[in-house]
Amino acid sequence: MAYPKHVQRIAELLGQLAGIGPRQAVRLAFSLLEKEDAYCTEFANLLQTMRTQTACCSICFRSMETRGIPHCDICNASGRASDKIMIVEKEPDVETMERSGVFNGLYHITGGVISPLEKQPGDKIRMRELFARVKTHPARSSLEIIIATSNTMEGNQTANYIERILQPLQIKITRLGRGLSTGAEIEYADPLTLEAALKNRR
Ligand SMILES: [Zn+2]
Repeated sequence: MAYPKHVQRIAELLGQLAGIGPRQAVRLAFSLLEKEDAYCTEFANLLQTMRTQTACCSICFRSMETRGIPHCDICNASGRASDKIMIVEKEPDVETMERSGVFNGLYHITGGVISPLEKQPGDKIRMRELFARVKTHPARSSLEIIIATSNTMEGNQTANYIERILQPLQIKITRLGRGLSTGAEIEYADPLTLEAALKNRR
């Protein structure tokens, strides 16, 4: 038995999204089918608009609305400590960190972690961009890179890799202290844990 071909195709597309398994993708496709016209029209249009009107900060890689400035409001803010760059895996990590209010520096979003057999690990975590950013940083002697990847195998492997690549630049590199339990992701950490992890960085 096959589903109608467009439902099938929508399910295939949804199944390519992070965290969506094949069965869930089919369920989502059918719930889209049951939605009202207005919902589907807005959804379809917005998908296009989102792509054209959302850009990526050229410094930290946060997403932002396109408005003729290449940098996000965090990178642009004057009151932040520009000599502290925290490396996180994904955008929600920045949101969690910002909500906790414990960090006042800048960010670099890797966009992923390195898995053991990665062929081009540097490309996957925007290492070239980070290296260039650190190398040309105006306050390199006081610069601190705080690695805040998840406390998972891949997160730690990514942290080791980052440390190794940045080492020749002779800057201070720290990692969040392990107030974060094994398997912990920054995204789901509470403010007190983050504050302790930041204070105990080494
Ligand atoms: Zn930015």
